[in-house]
Amino acid sequence: MKRIYLDHAATTPMRPEVIEEMLPYFREKFGNASTLYFYGRQAKEALNLARERVASVINAEASEIVFTSGGTESDNFAIAGVAWANQKKGRHIITTSIEHHAVLNICKFLEKRGFEVTYLTVDGYGLVNPQDVKRAIRKDTLLISVMHANNEVGTIEPIEEIGEIAKEKGVYFHTDAVQTFGHIPIDVNKLNVDLLSVSAHKLYGPKGVGCLYIRKGTRIAPFLYGGDQEDKRRGSTENVAGIVGFGKAAELAKEEMEEEIKRLIPLRDRLIKQILEKIKYSRLNGHSTKRLPGNVNISIEFVEGESMLIQLDMKGICASSGSACTSSILEPSHVLTAMGVPAEAAYGSLRFSLGRDNSSEDIDYVLEVLPGIAENLRAMSPLYQERKNKE
Ligand SMILES: *Cc1c(COP(=O)(O)O)cnc(C)c1O
Repeated sequence: MKRIYLDHAATTPMRPEVIEEMLPYFREKFGNASTLYFYGRQAKEALNLARERVASVINAEASEIVFTSGGTESDNFAIAGVAWANQKKGRHIITTSIEHHAVLNICKFLEKRGFEVTYLTVDGYGLVNPQDVKRAIRKDTLLISVMHANNEVGTIEPIEEIGEIAKEKGVYFHTDAVQTFGHIPIDVNKLNVDLLSVSAHKLYGPKGVGCLYIRKGTRIAPFLYGGDQEDKRRGSTENVAGIVGFGKAAELAKEEMEEEIKRLIPLRDRLIKQILEKIKYSRLNGHSTKRLPGNVNISIEFVEGESMLIQLDMKGICASSGSACTSSILEPSHVLTAMGVPAEAAYGSLRFSLGRDNSSEDIDYVLEVLPGIAENLRAMSPLYQERKNKE
């Protein structure tokens, strides 16, 4: 069966160029980058090139990039690392209620260890108000963490404005850029961020590798205590092949970003517009323009997202309801709940995340099958029959 992959926010397929670039590092270029002879130097050089490539996507210095095992580690590292190293200043952290669990759960852990966390709420579009951030800052605030774009609803947050406030108040600022790195432009200096998390598998690179950007001079405790790797911030022999793949993916993303944005936005907007036209009682979740180029998140009332996913899968379409990490639990998404989406609509949420391999025909196919799936499932809903009879 032909499969149409529309879940690029969960993970992306590796690009052939990335795999090609990695292969020698599984074979003849197997060295440990901490050794001094030929193989070690070869591996070290590969790490240096990858570091340059990754840094250049966000206008950072190569020395400000620490390679990690991915987005979750980078988020944990940024938040716990800054918390442990700056406790003398205070024990207060500001974040939002729509963050990825990689941020929310390290914050919950720190709360059990004597830190205080403020979870800011968002408006109906999922937007954080920079003035709320400003008002929440206290003398003992040591870190602000607000994601660059939300992985479920695609809302792009006003990071530049928040960064200005953080800088003015002298508070460290972290952003989870896992959904934006390589997808929309990022300049760490323009955004005034001190720490920024990235994961390679969200930009057509390998799984299990990512990085944390750490602005020069930031006080942060190491994440792993071991050898001298990664500037003594993360002991452990580097994942050379993975990092090489990450570097290649970053380079390609930088080159092609502008064109890919121009290609995806019309596809995204057509899918949104036509779903809303074709399916009654459906709504868009998130903002119409402050939105990731590939993100479509809609709620279809009187049906469960999960049931639609199963039906879509039978037609060869891979999509998501809420986020992949929570979709095994039948609870409405914490993001939609924070945005004030009513439970009936939150249960019927569907996310399509478009990527490089999607064409206009893929969108046509979704539009061809989705209305029928919704209608069939709704036929079993007494609430839907009631609503229809009222009209
Ligand atoms: C996927 C994702 C993560 C987790 O990244 P992993 O590399 O899978 O650990 C963190 N934050 C956001 C916003 C994500 O989309």
